[in-house]
Amino acid sequence: MEELKEYDVIVIGSGPAGMTSALYASRSGLSVVMLDRGIYGGQMNNTAEIENYPGFESVLGPDLSKKMYDSSTQFGAQYAFGTVKDIEVNDDYKIVKTDSGDYKAPVVIIASGSEYRKLGVTGEEEYSGKGVSYCAVCDGAFFKGQDVVVVGGGDSAIEESTYLANLVNHVTVIHRRDQLKAQKILQERALKNDKISFVWDSNVEEIKGDNQKISGVKIINNKTNEESFIDAAGVFIYVGILPMTESFKSLNITDENGWIKTNDQMETDVPGIFAVGDVREKKLRQVTTAVGDGGIAGQKAFEYIEAHKN
Ligand code: NAP
Repeated sequence: MEELKEYDVIVIGSGPAGMTSALYASRSGLSVVMLDRGIYGGQMNNTAEIENYPGFESVLGPDLSKKMYDSSTQFGAQYAFGTVKDIEVNDDYKIVKTDSGDYKAPVVIIASGSEYRKLGVTGEEEYSGKGVSYCAVCDGAFFKGQDVVVVGGGDSAIEESTYLANLVNHVTVIHRRDQLKAQKILQERALKNDKISFVWDSNVEEIKGDNQKISGVKIINNKTNEESFIDAAGVFIYVGILPMTESFKSLNITDENGWIKTNDQMETDVPGIFAVGDVREKKLRQVTTAVGDGGIAGQKAFEYIEAHKN
């Protein structure tokens, strides 16, 4: 049987919340491992420019990820690859089970973040990777000089539309209402960009193509019921996020929508298990708030371990 890897703190996820948790916990002398099923950085890697993180007028998401990773590991916190399957809670310790081995620690900090919500229309699945994308930074360059559609009206849709407008010929934003949800500064930038146009009060009904690549989207105006077709080589979907809490269901620490409930000390209802960042039930999901959560949880991890020393 494979040996259990033991640490003081297991951080699940290595986005800004996880990395800051690891920084604070390791800097206080604890042994820490950050588990992730992908590269460190989380959603920052899918963000072109971040201009609301203090200290940088503007920084590329992947660059900020690398800087955070370097600082979060400087006091010995380790990074390990693995997909978490379950957490087993015992009196003095927890076992985190992953597809690449099991880990044991008295403290677990869940920083698993969120994933993009799917639109759920015909063609979305079929053309995923063949024109349908959830990441403008990753895939925008494939559509240089072509027309694309962005679905959604929140911060992600509007910020990424502006990013795409620098690359592609034209961006059409399709939003189900006649007002955007995005922050004012992002709205103003997009609304005055002449490479971006808006289709209001409309839902995408179907993404169409020739089996190899998409040709466009069929939309319906939800006020007039009028149907139309917009030609597009790419469809970028930004219709919200869902918590990544599937592996923690057995802990019973989420609200009715799956977000993890904590107090302002990042404590869940299970002693020794904390939650930070986007996965937490909270109002403002930003890099800054993720980092704040991580600092608190890293410090609380130290206090928890001190208090539980035999
Ligand atoms: P979001 O804020 O939940 O916005 C989702 C958008 O998609 C809304 O406009 C919503 O319409 C629309 N929508 C939802 N379901 C839909 C459906 N089935 N069909 C069509 N449209 C649908 O999600 P987000 O933009 O991905 O942002 C996620 C979080 O990250 C937010 O907390 C956001 O503030 C944060 N974020 C911040 C920044 C930044 O600060 N620069 C950048 C990106 C993201 P309605 O408006 O009608 O509800």
